[in-house]
Amino acid sequence: MQIDLEAERKEILNRYKKLLKASKRKLDKAEKDIIRKAFEVAVEAHKEMRRKSGEPYIYHPIAVAQICAEEIGLGPTGIVCALLHDTVEDTDLTLDDVRGLFGEKVAQIIDGLTKISGVIDYTSSIQAENFRKVLLTMSEDIRVILIKLADRLHNMRTLEHMKHDKQIKIASETFFLYAPLAHRLGLNAIKTELENLALKYTDTEAYEDIEYKLKESEPERKRFIQKFIEPLKEILSEQGFKFKIFGRPKSIYGIYNKIKTKFVSFEEIYDLFAIRIVIDTPPEKEKADCWKVYSIITDFYHPSPERLRDWISTPKSNGYESLHTTVMGPQGKWVEVQIRTVRMDEIAENGFAAHWKYKDTDTENAAEQENQLENWLRRIREMLENPDPNALEFIDDFKLNLFSDEMFVFTPKGDMKTLPVRATALDFAFEIHSKIGEHCIGAKVNHKLVSLNHELTSGDQVEILTSKKQTPKEDWLDYVTTAKAKSKIKNSLKHQRKKIALEGKEILRRKMERYNMTFSTHIVNEFANFLKLPSSQELFYRAALGNVDIKEVREFAAYREDPVKPTKKQELQKLEQLVTSARGKSDMLVIGDDMQKLDYNLAPCCNPIPGDDVFGFITVSEGIKIHRVNCPNSIKLLSNYAYRVVKAKWVNDQLISFLAGLKIKGTDEIGIVNNITKVISNENNVNMRSINFDTEGGLFEGTIMVYVHDTKHLNHLIDKLKTVKGINRVERIDEKE
Ligand code: MN
Repeated sequence: MQIDLEAERKEILNRYKKLLKASKRKLDKAEKDIIRKAFEVAVEAHKEMRRKSGEPYIYHPIAVAQICAEEIGLGPTGIVCALLHDTVEDTDLTLDDVRGLFGEKVAQIIDGLTKISGVIDYTSSIQAENFRKVLLTMSEDIRVILIKLADRLHNMRTLEHMKHDKQIKIASETFFLYAPLAHRLGLNAIKTELENLALKYTDTEAYEDIEYKLKESEPERKRFIQKFIEPLKEILSEQGFKFKIFGRPKSIYGIYNKIKTKFVSFEEIYDLFAIRIVIDTPPEKEKADCWKVYSIITDFYHPSPERLRDWISTPKSNGYESLHTTVMGPQGKWVEVQIRTVRMDEIAENGFAAHWKYKDTDTENAAEQENQLENWLRRIREMLENPDPNALEFIDDFKLNLFSDEMFVFTPKGDMKTLPVRATALDFAFEIHSKIGEHCIGAKVNHKLVSLNHELTSGDQVEILTSKKQTPKEDWLDYVTTAKAKSKIKNSLKHQRKKIALEGKEILRRKMERYNMTFSTHIVNEFANFLKLPSSQELFYRAALGNVDIKEVREFAAYREDPVKPTKKQELQKLEQLVTSARGKSDMLVIGDDMQKLDYNLAPCCNPIPGDDVFGFITVSEGIKIHRVNCPNSIKLLSNYAYRVVKAKWVNDQLISFLAGLKIKGTDEIGIVNNITKVISNENNVNMRSINFDTEGGLFEGTIMVYVHDTKHLNHLIDKLKTVKGINRVERIDEKE
């Protein structure tokens, strides 16, 4: 391919001139000079590079700078940074070079841009931690994120040159991260374009289908809009308004989303477009004039009472201001009408960036807007400064705040607070101040007393009740939704626990010293271990709550002296000898063949019989007791006195009988007791020791103690008993009658 370098050089200069014209603000000489310098540095740095499309690479930074200037409204610093945004990352230019040439501020923004690329562009999926980093950088200088958005927008506009799998990856990220960010920053035009482009590559068929249908239905829509606005134009002119009125189609992605979420067809969507009236009016008359227009329209078309949205008195937190109403138009069709001023329209389309243009007008409204941007940045910063150690949890908290709708609630003095929907009274308390939150005992919502977890609704007036004695509780974590409240509560709980543990440490020290134990980390850990606690902190905590009693300290002291209690030592030695002889060659205690010789008996709490899983437990006065492994007492014995436990197993000896208990339930049939005893006496070698039964209200319940050889034998008997007419349950029971 032959490249005409001379023609390219001309084109580069053309594009540069177009960029200068795009600046919203008139640039002075010094500003033009620095932009020129950035342009030349960028051209030089990228001179050998070409884009995937084959074009000179420098077209890209120029285009990004153009978007920053024209569509976002950034000033000279933003334009300079946009021109340089890929230099440090992709060329030989270093950050120090940039600092030397353009100063600290530009270097800082370029550094942010380079880092952002590092976290977003080169990971296969956006991890929560990366997401946090992105936002951290953003909160340093919001221009970093604005330039990154412009960069992404241009890349999306030129995505056709990429390979398909890259297209999908980039488009998905755009959906996940960039479009919501643009939305949150109030960059509506950019958000809409990003969504449309992302859809074009992720669901091409649906995109083209909607695009086609929109085009096809356009003539009819135009006629309708014409008919709708004709009479309004006349009256508004008569009233002396300077205005624009036009129909605005819903975006392709907006339509796609509605089809997907509302399960409707394209033809069923009634709000394919909205009518927008943009009036040109001085700041002090904005609100009154918008309502005047509202009144004119609703004189002409009947409004739906439920569909009035006043974003002028209460702007959205991304700065959006507008008055929305839905009216009944010709042919019985509902039509949404948006009323706003030129200033509001620019902010609605281009967000806070556009607003900077109005920064110097000292109307109260402008100050209020500025305030909200500040508030928003402050909230993000707070979230980032106290991130949860669990990054995933953080992203959940964050997404909740970022993407969910918001509500507005008021303090008793009428100050407005923005909270995510589903926020509670407790969230509100933390929103005011963390000390108010920590001492919150309740709230009054619209003068009515409510609990801490009461969910607020937009427009509520909330008064928080506090008490100095109150402290955050564990279950408060379930009461709150905002990331701020959650992290404050977690911190406070951690703090409380530490403080309590510290008190516990002293208590424990005194207790241990009473038993002549040195209070050292090693011994404390050993004690925690002895009590089966996860850490020494936990032990301190328990000690503070009075849950470590002196008996346990005494036992531990004794255990440290000698794992076996010294007073009973002799007797135990005797027992151990018995155990040793019983074990024989294996280390198992073998039960069943020589019961008489060995000093052991069967524990009455669980009545083990041959076949059961058992263990032997050395008691001081009664020799070795045999328990079932699933005996109600076994957990306590096995975990606290492991050194006194001996493994045990049965030998098969049919001649010895063991006592077992059965509980029988059923309906009170005639002769049921007879039938039960018959079954038992018909079984070989089973002897019944006792039988008790009760009948009440036609129900039969009985307890039988029988002598059996082993579990197999017992189970056989249980099966037999279950066949007796009227019996529906037979269960083995642990204890004797
Ligand atoms: Mn770039």
